[in-house]
Amino acid sequence: MEIKIEDLKVLFSEEQIKAKIKELAKEMNDFYKGEEVIAICVLKGSVLFMSDLTRELNMPLKMEFIRLSSYGSSMTTSGKVNAVDIKLPDLNGKNVLIVEDIVDTGLTAKFLIDFIHMNFQVKTFKFCSLLDKKITRKTDVEPDYYCFDVDDKFVVGYGLDYDGYFRNLKYIGYKE
Ligand code: 5GP
Repeated sequence: MEIKIEDLKVLFSEEQIKAKIKELAKEMNDFYKGEEVIAICVLKGSVLFMSDLTRELNMPLKMEFIRLSSYGSSMTTSGKVNAVDIKLPDLNGKNVLIVEDIVDTGLTAKFLIDFIHMNFQVKTFKFCSLLDKKITRKTDVEPDYYCFDVDDKFVVGYGLDYDGYFRNLKYIGYKE
């Protein structure tokens, strides 16, 4: 299937995304109470979410970026997670917050959760995702924080791509 920008329907608008991020950030600011956080952005899909979310957070914060891949250029997950670049500093004793674009099967999330817990004794661990696609879940992973539920749609925009395109859209859309 090819996706053209004129075929896209808005699922979540720029205003809805902004409002939800503010709500989520408030919850996080209340939870961390000014303690330092290491926010880990899972590239490339989470880049816009990471930059908007972290600007609403008020604690001392460091950003890390890692790159995993499971989709390639298709619209369904390959079922295998590749750690393309997962170099991280010492996270022992830290408040670790993963920032992901979407939890679909949950394989990527599970891979990351296991990776962090196998390598570090963190102080707190939270998994935050822009979107939660519960219907296609194949693991028992649930995000601690998320903005919106999506049903079994392939969505693009606001960081999420189709074949590398549409990440720069201000909204989240789908093709009917
Ligand atoms: P999971 O490992 O949970 O199956 O998939 C996670 C990754 O698959 C996400 O980080 C994202 O890159 C990709 N993905 C899953 N569903 C969608 C979708 O609806 N649209 C896009 N663009 N990517 C998706």
